[in-house]
Amino acid sequence: MRIVTCAANFQVKSKAGNVREIIMAARFGHWSTGLLTSMNDPEMVVESDDKVVVIKDKYPKAKYHFLVLPKEQIPSLKALKPSQIDLLNHMHKIGKEIAFRADKDLRFRLGYHAVPSMSHLHLHVISQDFNSPCLKTKKHWNSFTTKYFVDSEDVIKAISSNGKWSVDSEKYSDLLKKDLRCHICDESFSTIPSLKGHIVLHDVSVSKKSL
Ligand code: AMP
Ligand code: ZN
Repeated sequence: MRIVTCAANFQVKSKAGNVREIIMAARFGHWSTGLLTSMNDPEMVVESDDKVVVIKDKYPKAKYHFLVLPKEQIPSLKALKPSQIDLLNHMHKIGKEIAFRADKDLRFRLGYHAVPSMSHLHLHVISQDFNSPCLKTKKHWNSFTTKYFVDSEDVIKAISSNGKWSVDSEKYSDLLKKDLRCHICDESFSTIPSLKGHIVLHDVSVSKKSL
């Protein structure tokens, strides 16, 4: 007889973004709710105010990698409403401040994964060096360097003009399988180590306009 645990069940359900299911998953300690745990862990929190919490990404994919999370329970991009535009703008502003404070000379991008793996809305604030031992796979690379990574400003524009964020998950999952290409010069690579050996040669400072 095959025993299906609650946790396995919640893995699928929490991706659907239903608040009640996410709270249940958090209660059972499912991995997809890890951000909720980190939001309450002083070791992980960088700063907070009445609306948001900024945490360090536990598996940073670049020299600096933060996540800005709303205190309000918002499961995902798909749950966003026009009334939350001010909050999205605030998250963006806080993200920019954190990036500037981390390294004002380094180029950063602020955005969301089109199809996130973790529950609770989170804005990635990531420096563009991608110099990190945690960046190990094609999926990691493509999730931050293809259109799978949606700029925060584009999400705000979409919610303002369409009233919601809608996504064709299949189209986005294909992006993760794309060939490896340097995000700066577009050169193609067959392996992650060769790509990583190449990107360290690029200058990703703000003053360079090559990105
Ligand atoms: P995604 O859901 O694809 O937008 O990305 C989730 C991000 O959360 C990844 O960059 C992970 O490295 C990061 N992450 C996973 N678990 C934790 C955790 N418990 N605390 C902080 N960051 C995490
Ligand atoms: Zn290059």
